Amino acid sequence: MFRLINSASYNAQQLYWRNDIVPENDAIYSSYIKNINTILNELKNYSSSKNYTVTIVRSPNPYAYTVGGGKIWITTGMIKYFEAMAQNQEDYGIGQFSQDAKIATTLAHEIAHNEKGHLHHMLTPILLTLALFTLKACALGVLCVYRFVSLPAFILGLSLLACLTLGVLLFLVFRRENQDEIEAECGAFELLKKASKDSTLLKGAEQVIFWEYAFMASLHPLNPQEIERLSALQKMRN
Ligand SMILES: [Zn+2]
Repeated sequence: MFRLINSASYNAQQLYWRNDIVPENDAIYSSYIKNINTILNELKNYSSSKNYTVTIVRSPNPYAYTVGGGKIWITTGMIKYFEAMAQNQEDYGIGQFSQDAKIATTLAHEIAHNEKGHLHHMLTPILLTLALFTLKACALGVLCVYRFVSLPAFILGLSLLACLTLGVLLFLVFRRENQDEIEAECGAFELLKKASKDSTLLKGAEQVIFWEYAFMASLHPLNPQEIERLSALQKMRN
């Protein structure tokens, strides 16, 4: 079942990005792709699954995400953001870090989402809710066909059911969002701490996560969710 959901979500992404996937021999991005894969291979040594792959897609929005099954997507906007972050660093107490360390934090974050099964935390109750809605709607339809309920009552019942389902779906989508991000940041910190012990490429990479929060706080005050994530991380650091 999980494998089916993983491949379905991967295929949907593949279809969505079909015209924007950056080929490995791309004139501008080939060296980045090679570098990202080298870092990913280092991280794989410390993660439970070895099946991670990265696909680079053309989009100005700085974004990285995973759709389960170890498939990570990174936009070209995100690559530009890595460059800008590494060039434009002020000292927030952890000194200088490399662009590779910044890439590693992003990859480790996405790996942690995968390892903690976040896609399924969200999708499984969503699929169950939709199945339940279909069942109830069919039952209502049957009652209407056999005239146990009138047509207006059927329409009213169906509308109420649809509104209720929509409410439950929205709740399910946003319910664990912050919790999942906290778990992913802590998972990334743990993974990077292990990896950076013997990888010179990833030296001190786990500290970059804190630099990032300091950087964010310098741009705008941290919101309550960001503060919650940061304090969960600080507990691990101590
Ligand atoms: Zn995340």
